[in-house]
Amino acid sequence: MTTSALDLMPGVEPTPLALLLLGRQSDPDSERGVDCPGELPAASDPTLVARAAAAKATLGDRLFVLGHHYQRDEVIAFADVTGDSFRLAQQAAARPEAEFIVFCGVHFMAEAADILTGSQQAVLLPDLAAGCSMADMASFEQVERCWEDLVAAGVAADTVPVSYMNSSAAIKGFTGRHGGTICTSSNARRALEWALTHGSPTRPRKILFLPDQHLGRNTAVRELGLALSDCVVYDPHKPGGGLTAQQLRDATVILWKGHCSVHGRFTVESVREVRERVPGVTVLVHPECRHEVVLAADLVGSTDYIIKTLDAAPAGSSWAIGTELNLVRRLAKAHPDKTIVYLDKTVCFCSTMNRIDLPHLVWTLESLVAGRVVHQITVEPDTARFAKAALDQMLALP
Ligand code: SF4
Repeated sequence: MTTSALDLMPGVEPTPLALLLLGRQSDPDSERGVDCPGELPAASDPTLVARAAAAKATLGDRLFVLGHHYQRDEVIAFADVTGDSFRLAQQAAARPEAEFIVFCGVHFMAEAADILTGSQQAVLLPDLAAGCSMADMASFEQVERCWEDLVAAGVAADTVPVSYMNSSAAIKGFTGRHGGTICTSSNARRALEWALTHGSPTRPRKILFLPDQHLGRNTAVRELGLALSDCVVYDPHKPGGGLTAQQLRDATVILWKGHCSVHGRFTVESVREVRERVPGVTVLVHPECRHEVVLAADLVGSTDYIIKTLDAAPAGSSWAIGTELNLVRRLAKAHPDKTIVYLDKTVCFCSTMNRIDLPHLVWTLESLVAGRVVHQITVEPDTARFAKAALDQMLALP
């Protein structure tokens, strides 16, 4: 947390601990790699900005730098394009002349970029420890066991997997292998509608939604009008997911027990408190927030929706935003004529996203200048083929 961030968010206090305690070799089972080399420039090096600019200029059109909305300002300053994970992967694929795609985001995003880009392009993640706690909550082995439970309950043939973009390539591959689709927070409604109705119209379908239970529940209940009781939660840490075969048969949506550690922090109490703190405030949250928070908010939408809504908001209006802090800070800076505050009193960055900093970026770019491709992310071809089928299905959603 920097002083300037606190200055921009009055009434907000720093969180006492980093949200996720990640680091070198801290979590060998996670979806991300964790080995991070020690030969980084010092964060205090005053020439870092100049070094990054010089390396970028030397690489020219051979390089394309992508910056996710949740990245630090110091990194975003070097991004050729900013956006959400899917838009960034698409942008990378649209630049076949770029030999090196430096993805300033997290591991699953770099995997998606590798799947969508050509074989002549290398996708690099400046810090391999930049993972995603949500993606880590659904391992391939766990999801395969879940599918076996669905087979045993006699419902697998009628179940369509719908996986959020925020999942590993292995989960995307599983989804494609079983005829499902990927979704983003912008198109989750269309993905669920498609999954429930595609195939035989006389045989109602079921959805296995991976890995974010909140996005799945919020979309099913708030946007499709299903009842909360139509959804069950499959807990991969319990035998049979903690569900009976009858519960699996009765459910319309089987939600995976995963969540975002950043968006999951917002509570109904945060909404109540900000309404008291900021008179006339409009509360706008991301659909990765818990269902009760989404119900208590005034507006709900993806990062794209949040950005567009604030762009269109009248001067003098007041907003409390429930999404990652780097983005909220940038929006507050971009709209000095509006009051834009972070929804919670305790600030919380996505700590894995924040692992990509200027020293890692400089190290990555200078390595490329020296002819070394470092931290390349590659997806095994068979997995990539099925994952691409699921991504293509998303692009073909009606
Ligand atoms: S904000 Fe949440 S879902 Fe996004 S990368 Fe961070 S932990 Fe993952």
